[in-house]
Amino acid sequence: MLDADWDFAGAQPHLVSTTLHGTRRLVHGYHARANMTGQSRPKIPKSIELAVRQKCRFACVNPECRCPIWDYEHIVDYSIVKEHREDNIVLLCPTCNQARKGAQFSRDRIIKWLQALSNQTRPERLFFDFPTVDFGSNIVTSACMQSAYVFQIGRSYLHISSDNKTSSINAEFWNKNGELSLKIENSRYTLYTDVWDINYKRGDKVKNTPGVLTFKNGPGDTFLEVEFHASNNRIGVYGKFWPADGCCLAIQRDGIYAGDTLLSRYCAVQGAQQLAFWVRDGSPPYSAIGPIYGVHNVINAEYCGILDTTVGFVWDVAFLLDPKRHRTLGGLKGIGVRGQRIPG
Ligand SMILES: [Zn+2]
Repeated sequence: MLDADWDFAGAQPHLVSTTLHGTRRLVHGYHARANMTGQSRPKIPKSIELAVRQKCRFACVNPECRCPIWDYEHIVDYSIVKEHREDNIVLLCPTCNQARKGAQFSRDRIIKWLQALSNQTRPERLFFDFPTVDFGSNIVTSACMQSAYVFQIGRSYLHISSDNKTSSINAEFWNKNGELSLKIENSRYTLYTDVWDINYKRGDKVKNTPGVLTFKNGPGDTFLEVEFHASNNRIGVYGKFWPADGCCLAIQRDGIYAGDTLLSRYCAVQGAQQLAFWVRDGSPPYSAIGPIYGVHNVINAEYCGILDTTVGFVWDVAFLLDPKRHRTLGGLKGIGVRGQRIPG
């Protein structure tokens, strides 16, 4: 029922949503296959899967497609080669795999695509456009007029803009060596340094689990996860940012943190005229609740509802870096702030 709203540029909505929902009709999962003699075929080794994702740059190998929702597909069919070899496996989305089976894409053409990929750096599309965004259990609806979220310290690290229907993501991720590793502009990403892995795990409609896109700099070093919740038309964005010494910002499943300090969780922002959550350069001397900045320089904010303010939550970096100034305004929990919507 949500399919019509899912605009995944170029892809056929019913195929994309079918894939996201994890139904079996178009899912050619290698793990579920059996050969003609009824014997289960072995799984593709994890090391080969990773190598295939890397060589295909983490998306469908068709340069006109590059859908991040894919399966591992054998160029020469497994029933013929009867083995899993990295050089015979590529990532193909369900749409392109159907085209391949219909003989629209030859083996030579797929190999040419692979060769062309090795030097390409053009932006790749990444995200579906969903109207509601979850940041560490904080919910932002698309009723926010400009930006749902900004980490802006010297530069903009994360900026989600919305209109009435969709949210698009802009972000920069820097690795521990101070190198730009991944840039997302209007929901399209460009890889700079070698991101080690981007993997997609399909959701399960029956179990109501989301599809998850995971970005890693190395084994165990996840720096971004995006969850696609089909059932309530929502994406979850979780990640780590290192914008300033001593002020690692993290969006975790249970809240937004600056270092070990909890900033907010289980809060909702709707109808912010400018920004929903804002971490910024600056050093004002006070903490407050008000109609302009709904909640300003307060930590441990929980269960707060912010409606129609200019900015929902704002934290100044100088405040975050100085624990002596941290205030909770008497255990800020469950407050509601309603501001004045600016006309126009
Ligand atoms: Zn494709």
